[in-house]
Amino acid sequence: MRTVYLDHNATTPVHPGVLDAMLPYFSQVFGNASSLHQSGREAKAALENARQSIAEVLGCRASEIIFTSGGTESDNFAIKGTAFANRKKGKHIITSSIEHHAVEISCRFLEKEGFEVTFLPVDSCGFVDPDDLKKAIRPNTTLVTIMYANNETGVIQDIEALGSVTREAGVYFHTDAVQATGKIPYKIDDIGCDMLSISAHKLYGPKGVGLLYIKSGTNIIPWNEGGGHEKGMRAGTENVAGIIGLAEAIKIAHKDIAARTVKLNKITRKFYESIKARIPDIQFNGHYEKRVPNTINISFKAIEGEAIVLSLDMKGIMVSTGSACTSGATDPSHVLRAMGVSREMAQGSIRFSFGRSNSIEDVDYVVDILAKEVNRLRSISPLYADSSG
Ligand SMILES: *Cc1c(COP(=O)(O)O)cnc(C)c1O
Repeated sequence: MRTVYLDHNATTPVHPGVLDAMLPYFSQVFGNASSLHQSGREAKAALENARQSIAEVLGCRASEIIFTSGGTESDNFAIKGTAFANRKKGKHIITSSIEHHAVEISCRFLEKEGFEVTFLPVDSCGFVDPDDLKKAIRPNTTLVTIMYANNETGVIQDIEALGSVTREAGVYFHTDAVQATGKIPYKIDDIGCDMLSISAHKLYGPKGVGLLYIKSGTNIIPWNEGGGHEKGMRAGTENVAGIIGLAEAIKIAHKDIAARTVKLNKITRKFYESIKARIPDIQFNGHYEKRVPNTINISFKAIEGEAIVLSLDMKGIMVSTGSACTSGATDPSHVLRAMGVSREMAQGSIRFSFGRSNSIEDVDYVVDILAKEVNRLRSISPLYADSSG
């Protein structure tokens, strides 16, 4: 059976170039980067080369990059690390209502620890208004954490405007750039953030590795303690092979970002246009222009998203109802609900996230099957009979 993978926002396959770059670091250059001997020094040199290469692509200093186990750890570290380091100054944090769980639950943890958290609303397209942010900042605010591109809708925040509000107010600004990196050719300087999270496996790198950019001078305490790795900021023997993979993945992504943007825009636009032409009672969620070009989120009236996921899976097509972490749960997406999408439509939403393995030929193939499955599911849905009759 032909398979079509449309879940690149959940994870991506490791790029062959990334795998090649990593392989020597499993068994040939296997040393512990903290060891003083030759094998350790080789690993350490490779680690620092990777750091330098990432710094050049992202536009920061190598010393401002701390390697972690991925996006979740980077978000936890940034949020808890700055909140606790600056708690004498104030205990108020600002975030948005559409964050990934790694950010949202970290903020919920802080609430239990006596911090106050403001969850900013978003408009119907999923944007945080920089004026809302400005008004929410108080004298005791220490940190603002707002994501760059959303994992469910692909919507890209006006991150520079948000950054400049935080700079004027003198509060720290962290952004979860996990879905933006490799899709938007940003430079950290342009964003004006103090911290930024990246995960390798969302950009054709290996799972279990990522980084946190921390602007030099940021007051943050380490969240992982132990042997003083990463200049004492993140203890734990460095995942050298993974870090080499992360560096190579970032390098490869940035080489063809413009060409991929053109290609993915073509694919996702055609995809949405043909769904619109062939399937009634659908709703586009997000912003058609200001989104990462690989992501399209659509609600299908009167069907459960999970039912679509499972029936497409039987046909070899892999999609998701939104964030992978919530699949299995029956609660509708908090992201779509925050955008004002009705409970019913949020429950029938599907995230299609395209990637390197897809071509324009996938569009007709997938939409054919999707149209049939949606028809079939609606024909047995009492909800659809009600609403159309
Ligand atoms: C996937 C994802 C994360 C978590 O990254 P992991 O490396 O899987 O822990 C965080 N934020 C966003 C926006 C993501 O899409």
